[in-house]
Amino acid sequence: MSDQEIGSTTETQPDTVEIAAFGSSKRPQRTRKATEFYTPAPKKQRKKVGRQKDTKVVKNDKPGDKRKAVDVPVERSKKRKVAEPTGSKRKFDPESDEDEARKKMVEDADLIKVRPVPGKKHVQQGRCFLSRYCRFEKCTACLAKKSDKCRFNGIRVFGQRKELVYGPEFMSVEGPDPKSTYESGVSEDEVKNVRVLDLIAPTFMKFLQKELPHLEMAKIRKFPDRNICQLCDSCQTTIFSGYWMCCVCGKEYCLSCYEEWNGSDDSFKETGRCSHRRKHYKEQLVPIYHYAKEEIIRLFDQCNQMILDDEDSSNLDGEELPDDDGAESSEATRPIESSRAVVRRRKPRTSRAKAAAAIDVVDSTMSVLNKDNGISTSPQDCHDRTPQLHDEHKKIEYAASEMTEETFRDLWKRGYPFVIRGAGKLEKEIWKPNYFIEHYGKIDCTVIDVKENVEYKMDVETFFKGFEDINSRFVNKSGICPCLKLKDWPPADDFAEMFPEHYKDFYNSLSFKEYTSRSGILNLAHRLPLEFNRPDLGPKMYNAYGSEDNMGGKGTTNLHLDMTDAVNMMAYAPNVESRLEEERDKPAAAVWDLYHPADLPRVRRFLRKIAKELGLSINHPIHDQCFYLDKELRSRLASEEGVTGWRVFQNPGDVVFVPAGCAHQVCNYTSCVKAAVDFVSPEGVARSYVVNQQFRKLRHGHKRKTDILQLPNILYHAWITSWDESND
Ligand SMILES: [Zn+2]
Ligand SMILES: [Zn+2]
Ligand SMILES: [Zn+2]
Ligand SMILES: [Zn+2]
Repeated sequence: MSDQEIGSTTETQPDTVEIAAFGSSKRPQRTRKATEFYTPAPKKQRKKVGRQKDTKVVKNDKPGDKRKAVDVPVERSKKRKVAEPTGSKRKFDPESDEDEARKKMVEDADLIKVRPVPGKKHVQQGRCFLSRYCRFEKCTACLAKKSDKCRFNGIRVFGQRKELVYGPEFMSVEGPDPKSTYESGVSEDEVKNVRVLDLIAPTFMKFLQKELPHLEMAKIRKFPDRNICQLCDSCQTTIFSGYWMCCVCGKEYCLSCYEEWNGSDDSFKETGRCSHRRKHYKEQLVPIYHYAKEEIIRLFDQCNQMILDDEDSSNLDGEELPDDDGAESSEATRPIESSRAVVRRRKPRTSRAKAAAAIDVVDSTMSVLNKDNGISTSPQDCHDRTPQLHDEHKKIEYAASEMTEETFRDLWKRGYPFVIRGAGKLEKEIWKPNYFIEHYGKIDCTVIDVKENVEYKMDVETFFKGFEDINSRFVNKSGICPCLKLKDWPPADDFAEMFPEHYKDFYNSLSFKEYTSRSGILNLAHRLPLEFNRPDLGPKMYNAYGSEDNMGGKGTTNLHLDMTDAVNMMAYAPNVESRLEEERDKPAAAVWDLYHPADLPRVRRFLRKIAKELGLSINHPIHDQCFYLDKELRSRLASEEGVTGWRVFQNPGDVVFVPAGCAHQVCNYTSCVKAAVDFVSPEGVARSYVVNQQFRKLRHGHKRKTDILQLPNILYHAWITSWDESND
């Protein structure tokens, strides 16, 4: 089975264990057992492969699909004339022996495994549709014809003979990682860096723990693509370092999906198909990694050191919030002995920064223990890590003068939302409806009818004219003036360009800029290197007319929660005299209902019950964002589950802080202009992780499933920009 032509290379022998070789070694390493890398498919499945072969059944093969299935697209044949040797020039002829063999190859090749190609090698340079690769298997990105990068470029290896010989084989890159450029000043403050390390270590550890066993198997290294966010093709979660790639179609699966895939037909149902809708088998997945083993071990040991140090100072970090099924919270974040003796590496913190940080940690601990801003705290609140317990009477409303960074950190670490009254000192004129009409009136925008959930296209002028004047409002076909919401405005990541004055004004008035501003050193999102495609964290504007929160009221924004922390500032609402008649006796311009992460299991249980009562089919009661809890539902939630949450009123100048993982809904009592921005605090990453894991489990195609934050990448770069190499 050495110098095969294409037709025979991919033929499978279902009952022999294939011997696989990895890497760019010149001599195929036939001594390594395949079982070292792969779990062979259960007998039953492999028999299926054999059966198909015998009976030549081409399931899934629609008429007209055959041409595609044999990898010889007719319309490409002209192009191939230029570079291809004879044999692949002519058009595909289903009757010819050679094409018959090729067709058979695809039909039979439900299972194609990595196999080394002997002799001289050729590494794929460019996309799979280049004429020289055209007759081989193509990657999912090239087949989808998206701008997505070719999965095989620079990594798939062919035998270099008169013609290229298909393996498929893959090669490993060598050398140091490509350099990262960070924003200047992100890592200048040593004390804050140690704080960052302390706070993110337990979460970062969760990612690192998954990587170590993978590195025992993975022999192929590939540098990460910086300008795309690499997502698992099954669960849409960010791939950090290790992953599995199908050697046939290049689909990439994260470590968790691989682990959860039990190989049965039902797994990988929706995204699991290989090209030409063939089946996927675990054996055809190749383990790949981005970061070298030494690097992961080094990070692992550093993380361990941090966690052990934290236990010494007995702080309260790592407070967990329960996952949907409660399983996640019990997941170990305890330090684990690595292959190297961790204890040996445990050194007392000697540097000035470490000493200061230790005091810092003790301080914040003390503030949690002793001081609760005038509200008495139950003893459990301090020591008990049981997630069900949090203080519903916690003070969460502050005057601008009362709020300190210490209070902020204490609240934030424990997942409490809060409001600062009158903190947003904004330039009044530029946030008024007339200003938007004057400067942006002719721009088109998409607005949503809050009640009916219908979208309309209109210009900005039409929307803002109706802001305070009901007679100027847009009337729909049924003759109704719907309550409209102009959400996420501007839709693209260009707030600074579209609203330069607003952008400046908003950032000038933000509190806790180290956390909330784009370049804040405690805003971990900005630790991502400049080469990266960074997540769009805003700011955005949220403009909407008044709505109702009483029985039957639909509010303005349904109950949901986010992976990031957020700060929301009300910039404008009409004076009481200028409000609509029915809006004048409301207690504020808007009202928020906020639920602590620890209450969410009960909120979810309650909403599932409500969905059942209403006959609604839902995937996730909060992530579907399909409920606004009106007065009746709020009181039922309180009486049936004991969850009251917090009601927070918001007027112009009031700033609401919502931690990652804290569920919230909003009702504007009158028309409001608000601006908000997301950020990633070290205090919030543990909760971001839990939300990330929940999103991962949503059904395919769910609007919240796609991981837009890249949490592991953020943690990795936050770590390496914070770690003082002199400690190693
Ligand atoms: Zn490709
Ligand atoms: Zn996955
Ligand atoms: Zn595949
Ligand atoms: Zn939100």
